[in-house]
Amino acid sequence: LAKENGHNYFQFFVASVDQEIRERKQLEKDLSVALAQNQFHLVYQPQVNLATHRIIGAEALIRWEHPERGLIPPDHFIPVAEMNGRIVEIGQWVLDQACAQASLWASNGMPLRIAINLSAVQLRQESIVDDILDTLRRHNIPAGRLELEVTETSFMTNLEEAVDKLKRLHSAGISIAVDDFGTGYSSLTYLKRMPVQHLKIDKQFIRDLLVNEEDTRIANTIIDLGKSLNLTVVAEGVETAEQEYYLAQRGCQLAQGYFFSKPLKPSEFERFVESFHRSIAEKTLGH
Ligand code: C2E
Ligand code: MG
Ligand code: MG
Ligand code: MG
Repeated sequence: LAKENGHNYFQFFVASVDQEIRERKQLEKDLSVALAQNQFHLVYQPQVNLATHRIIGAEALIRWEHPERGLIPPDHFIPVAEMNGRIVEIGQWVLDQACAQASLWASNGMPLRIAINLSAVQLRQESIVDDILDTLRRHNIPAGRLELEVTETSFMTNLEEAVDKLKRLHSAGISIAVDDFGTGYSSLTYLKRMPVQHLKIDKQFIRDLLVNEEDTRIANTIIDLGKSLNLTVVAEGVETAEQEYYLAQRGCQLAQGYFFSKPLKPSEFERFVESFHRSIAEKTLGH
């Protein structure tokens, strides 16, 4: 019986690996036409200054509307695009699209900073610094209005090269954030050597903030680290008023999360910014 089960298991295993490979190949095939067929769009999540309650910027997040399968989350297809290199052109599209949006918003009196996620694979490209600076110029966006979010893994493969590129980007005026801080191979060496200005506390530490003592201590530690290294700390995944209040009084400067807003399409985002600022103004005036 054991043998039989083993046999069945083996067949099942082979069948599921086979299935997985087929799905993966299909996904790669679909990805290869997604750009040309306009299946991507960006959504924007507001970043709020916890002291002034002003929206200071937005993180651009990619969405893939698959013609048959519907919305496919980035966590599902970005790793695939990173493995086959497709992320390079997708990433350039994101940059272009986000800059076009930022330029439109600026001309409508909404000069917000836009943060985009830069993949480690993109950062490894020889031409990445020029590509980014060219894109800013093409859209007439001051470099100070762009923030690049990189993860700690970006620093691992070729530290010298990553340092050099980020330094060039930073000296042009672009700000650099470490995304998902605390989940990768965090090393204080990176923080010391990298021209980094922002630390983003990963949402896994915020989810159970004030409920789980360890998560609370980790968040506190990141805030304190930011303070002592003179880095702005951004909390991601803020979902409750309690979390917002705690982070604000603990000295975390910026936050984003469903408590303020989900990532929004451009027109929804504009309406959100207006109503958010109107309601804050009314509160301050005591209405
Ligand atoms: P990330 O950059 O860490 O983005 C934060 C993720 O948390 C986003 O998921 C956002 O929608 C989600 N989020 C924001 N607030 C909350 C909250 O209050 N609660 C919860 N539970 N989640 C919240 P999303 O949009 O699915 O993106 C997932 C990841 O995919 C991103 O993580 C980023 O690593 C990657 N990604 C997204 N867009 C791009 C892109 O244009 N380029 C690259 N290279 N990666 C991207
Ligand atoms: Mg991010
Ligand atoms: Mg993150
Ligand atoms: Mg993440």
